[in-house]
Order: sequence, then C-alpha cells, then structure tokens
Amino acid sequence: MISNIERCYQCGQCTSVCPMGEQEQTYRIRRFLQMEKLGLESEESMITPFIFYCTTCYKCQDNCPQGVNLVDAVLAIREKAVHKGKMLEAHKKVGQMLINYGHAVPTNADAMEKRALLGLDERPPTVQASIEGLSEIKTLMRLTGFDNLVAESKVETIPENTTMVQQACFTQQQAAEEKA
Ligand code: SF4
Ligand code: SF4
Repeated sequence: MISNIERCYQCGQCTSVCPMGEQEQTYRIRRFLQMEKLGLESEESMITPFIFYCTTCYKCQDNCPQGVNLVDAVLAIREKAVHKGKMLEAHKKVGQMLINYGHAVPTNADAMEKRALLGLDERPPTVQASIEGLSEIKTLMRLTGFDNLVAESKVETIPENTTMVQQACFTQQQAAEEKA
C-alpha cells in the first residue's frame, strides 16, 4: 500500500483542485485513492488515459489536509497499469525509441548539422556515439523485460484524447498566468 494512504478521510479536496478532474469526470483521484486504500483493483483508474496525463503538479497533495502522498498513489496506479499491459501508445513509442537509439529523443539531422557548424561532433558524447553503449542498453532492456513491455503486440494501448489534454494544459497555463 502507498505510504500514509490510510490517513485519507475522503474529504474530496484533492479531486476539487485537480486540473485533470476539471477536464474529465472519470478522473477522480479521491476515488482511485479509496480503491487503493481498500486494497481493491480499480479497473476504472487503469483504463482512463488521464492517469497517465496527470502532470504530477502536486496540487492535490499540496491541498490535502491529511498530508497524504497522492502523487505516489498516481505513480503506483500507473505502474500497476503498465504491468497489466495497459499503456499509452505515445509512451510505448518512447520506450521503443529508447531501445532503438538509447535516447527517448535522439539527435536528429538538423541538430547534427548545427553541432557540426559549431565545431562539435555530430553526435553528442552519449550512448548515441557509442555502439558498445547502445548494445548495453539493449541488453539491459532485454534482461529487464522492458523490450517485451513496449513491443507492438504486447501492450494494450489506451485510447488517447488529445483535445482534452490540450485543454487541460491550456487551463493550467491560464491559471499560472493569472497568478503571475
Ligand atoms: S484531500 Fe486528502 S484526505 Fe481529502 S480525499 Fe484527498 S487524499 Fe483524502
Ligand atoms: S498531481 Fe495529478 S492527480 Fe494531483 S492534482 Fe495534479 S494532475 Fe491531479
């Protein structure tokens, strides 16, 4: 069980301040926490894409009168979902990039050209410039089973809702600007 989750008395303050909850009614951090607290699997929490879109902004945690570690709860639910084979398509692709290139965002041709113009090696001195290093990454991914986890056919992808996410980001940005 997540640390200090038993302190939750279900006041709902966390849900009321959560930017994801504002955008999507199925995303209720209080409810997910209750399921965790009772030791119940919440299928609902694992199939909503929003559990992956939680920005770990800590608003829920900062506003909890009981000091519950809510962000730990979100991370734990995500971890369980992934181990049950549920993952966002975008995250799976990032995992595949990591296996193929050793970087989630490998250096592209444009960046390589700019590096060369600056008199730098085209590839940064990371695993991208090291065949041995990349080989080690691949071995690590294979030994940990990460390659299977993100393989095309092994993961049930959760439908993503880009519009909702964009709205949520916009709302957060607006709130930050209003505070500034
Ligand atoms: S704010 Fe804290 S005490 Fe209230 S429901 Fe959320 S986790 Fe529980
Ligand atoms: S950390 Fe996640 S669950 Fe908590 S308020 Fe932010 S978006 Fe919502």
